[in-house]
Amino acid sequence: MLRTSTCGELRKDDCGKEVILCGWIQRMRDLGGMTFIDLRDHYGIAQLAFSIELNKELYEKAKTFGREYVIKVSGTVIERSNKNPNIPTGEIEIIVNSLELLNSSDNVPFTIEDETDGGEELRMKYRYLDIRRNIVRNNLILRHRMAFEARSFLNQLDFVEVETPVLIKSTPEGARDFLVPSRMNAGQFYALPQSPQTFKQLLMIGGFDRYFQLVKCFRDEDFRADRQPEFTQIDCEMSFITKKDIFEIFEGLIRHLFIKLKGIKPDDFLVQSYHDAMKYYGTDKPDLRFGMRLVELNDIVKGKGFRVFDDAEMVAGIKVEQCAAYTRKQIDELTEWVKRPQIGGKGLVYVKINTDGTIRSSIDKFYSEDELRKCADAFNADEGDLLLIMAGDKAATRKALGELRLEMGSRLELRDPGKFKCLWIEDFPLLEWDEETKRYYAMHHPFTSPLEEDIPKLGTDLANVRANAYDLVINGVEIGGGSIRIHDKKMQEKMFEVLGMSKEEAYKQFGFLMEAFRYGAPPHGGIALGFDRLVALFAGTDSIRDVIAFPKNNAGRDIMIDSPAPIDEAQLKELHLKLYVKK
Ligand code: ASP
Repeated sequence: MLRTSTCGELRKDDCGKEVILCGWIQRMRDLGGMTFIDLRDHYGIAQLAFSIELNKELYEKAKTFGREYVIKVSGTVIERSNKNPNIPTGEIEIIVNSLELLNSSDNVPFTIEDETDGGEELRMKYRYLDIRRNIVRNNLILRHRMAFEARSFLNQLDFVEVETPVLIKSTPEGARDFLVPSRMNAGQFYALPQSPQTFKQLLMIGGFDRYFQLVKCFRDEDFRADRQPEFTQIDCEMSFITKKDIFEIFEGLIRHLFIKLKGIKPDDFLVQSYHDAMKYYGTDKPDLRFGMRLVELNDIVKGKGFRVFDDAEMVAGIKVEQCAAYTRKQIDELTEWVKRPQIGGKGLVYVKINTDGTIRSSIDKFYSEDELRKCADAFNADEGDLLLIMAGDKAATRKALGELRLEMGSRLELRDPGKFKCLWIEDFPLLEWDEETKRYYAMHHPFTSPLEEDIPKLGTDLANVRANAYDLVINGVEIGGGSIRIHDKKMQEKMFEVLGMSKEEAYKQFGFLMEAFRYGAPPHGGIALGFDRLVALFAGTDSIRDVIAFPKNNAGRDIMIDSPAPIDEAQLKELHLKLYVKK
């Protein structure tokens, strides 16, 4: 090796040792007669000292170097007079006695510091420089450790990692596929998997008992802050299990990760039905780090002559504790906030339960103090509390209130980043009606089984059939989801029928699975966890880009390698393709 030690490992006990270090110049300080270099490698930072008195030639040479030069030095470890308690090597420095330049560096486009001056696009273009920064490197190391611990945990429980193909077949259900033209089969295409769903089911039919895979999945969706066109799942499937087993095993996995990587024992996981989550939190991924449940008010407020409430399908609100002193301006600002198109609220009604015993609202004209007090009682409100009430369609009102709840939770700092609340959401609807295409879609995917007791409704009451499906939610983030699958050929045929597919179409798309169901398919089920999101949660960042080595930007571009990119006419021809757009 070129070195005897790394920049992060030397301590006071090493004083007197002769060492050789290699690394990048993080910083240089010349104090006139003494030059100090902070030398950085993957493991940390060591201070190098050059003194004009001890070695004038080296001192002068060092001064010609700049940031991010790659050097190799040898020298003696000594105790520092000026200790730096902020870094692990802060008690020592190296008096350099030889210095070799391994490579120089141009001026870097942004500073390689924790607080860098580079904007996100610039840092993504030079991601290899961004990766030199502690924060990015640490995120990637965390990711590695989480993957390692997840593998080790699942391995202990007899899960076997099996690789499934990346070039598969396009299917109409789910998100849009990324397609790969086949050169050898003119006019035909592979698709990149949105998930290995059917393959993991086929592994169960193949007699594997427990499968897992850390696997790349691809979805050609519109881009959002927490979406990447390619992302990683911890994908799992098991035979002969129930939902309860899945909850136990994956609660175990999450606990294992929390203990190993954060030294935290999370509270017991809660279980909540989709119905209750929507009713009390206006979302199927509630952040339970704080209360502020939605309270429905139809029974109390309707029929008093206030048109907005009378005409609404739902009137509901939240109680914001000890905020009755909000000013007119603050309430107006919140009203504007809920009216933003992303939230979609039509307006906001307030009720203040003042500390002087009075109760005031923006609808005093329509409601007596007694009636307002009934409202307050519905919330169990105390003096000093503020009620924020919205009205409209049931679904829209719940959604908007759910967003307002999160916003107030953030503003009041109730969403403690050091606290983790994990819960399972269960009993999702099996199907979702789409107004545009006038048909039902599988809410999870078409292989999810209905709840046993809801099977009779499959013919008559599709909207109310619940699925044997579940999501794992942590702090308001959907970390994963799965289901107990259909393993019966007839039921699977029925499901495709419900989704508006003819038998012929269903067999064309999924014939391989239907065929497999003929040969003794075991009952099975599974789950997939979004690994990028899980790492982001552990890293304390909102963006999964921060925990991906080479992510794509908001427009789905890799701006470092400049992809996607046009291809040659010759390549197109070879692939039997013709472009409809001009290059
Ligand atoms: N394949 C599903 C998904 O990617 C997860 C599952 O049902 O196991 O969402």
